[in-house]
Amino acid sequence: MSLLITGGTGYIGSHAVVELLNAGDDVVIVDNLSNSSTKSLDRVEHITGKRPIFIKADICDKAAMESVFREHDISAVIHFAGLKAVGESTQIPLSYYHNNVTGTIVLLEVMKQFSVKNLVFSSSATVYGENNLSPLIETMPTSATNPYGQTKLMIEHILFDLAKSDPQWSIISLRYFNPIGAHHSGLIGENPNGIPNNLLPFVSQVAVGRLQQLSVFGDDYDTIDGTGVRDYIHVVDLALAHLKAVTALSKVDGCIAINVGTGNGTSVLQIVNKFKEISGVDVPYQISPRRPGDIATVFAKADLANEFLGWQAERNLDDMIRDTWRWQSQNPNGFE
Ligand code: NAD
Ligand code: UDP
Repeated sequence: MSLLITGGTGYIGSHAVVELLNAGDDVVIVDNLSNSSTKSLDRVEHITGKRPIFIKADICDKAAMESVFREHDISAVIHFAGLKAVGESTQIPLSYYHNNVTGTIVLLEVMKQFSVKNLVFSSSATVYGENNLSPLIETMPTSATNPYGQTKLMIEHILFDLAKSDPQWSIISLRYFNPIGAHHSGLIGENPNGIPNNLLPFVSQVAVGRLQQLSVFGDDYDTIDGTGVRDYIHVVDLALAHLKAVTALSKVDGCIAINVGTGNGTSVLQIVNKFKEISGVDVPYQISPRRPGDIATVFAKADLANEFLGWQAERNLDDMIRDTWRWQSQNPNGFE
């Protein structure tokens, strides 16, 4: 039996694939390479000594997905595939709704057709919207402020409705906080197209000389130093949460949402200072206006992951920054 990993050549997916292969699982990856490269497969093989099966396909392509399930004995799916840039989602919302929502519906239809009803889904803390105060708890009301967030929320609704309609489904929706860092080998890591939107890729590209300076979006929030606070989590800890989730599917009747964060908040300036300290490289920055849609503070209550999955984050901020820097300095142009 194999695990199907959609989006398995991407940032989080490739780290999950490493941990799954190390744990002895058989892995089949489906990815359309819209935001990744097969070079990550070479690196995964280098790290683990194993090459996962890779199928270049789009999850929206029903015939292609059917042939994946026909040709491979799939026991469960970890569904990472999706478009993820918030700003871009406001410019091309139809592409986001089609790719993320329609793509997930196609995947679920094919899973149902082949009686594979075990799923771990990549959700996001963005489903908590802007009206809840941190620490964010799974029972809080959800909402979304942009098309990307809407897709995650819509998919969660679809998953809850599906599981309600047929108790054979076992679904865990993992709500990620802010994944950063890279595999400690420095061989795989985050490789954004164009100018990065997220803080850590931006900071590391400034440090490596690809970008001139960081814009710190707002220094007048009600936080420790006025800059935005987020719950950063090491991508390897996040990857390991997926292994725990796959095991925990056997005790899920229906669908359950679980936060994956550390429970700690770190400000933008704390990140910048820690990055300088660990890399020994300056990170020039300027204070800029607040980014529309940003909120001051976001961090998780991470107890459910501990209780239900037996998982907790083991890597601290120093590990996250050290591993980000190792990846970025060894691969200044990503996988190229
Ligand atoms: P990523 O872009 O590196 O990986 C996503 C992968 O999915 C890419 O390899 C891409 O080529 C593939 N893909 C996209 N659409 C596809 C389609 N229609 N068919 C097949 N493959 C497709 O992103 P990531 O950071 O690894 O994120 C993985 C998942 O986690 C996404 O669903 C994302 O929304 C979610 N998530 C990410 C973050 C984050 O900060 N990185 C936070 C919360 C949730
Ligand atoms: N941020 C910043 N400059 C950047 C990118 C991000 O100051 O170039 C800030 C942003 O305002 C937020 C934090 O860094 O307070 C994390 O932003 P990111 O986009 O990485 O994650 P998200 O806001 O989606 O949680």
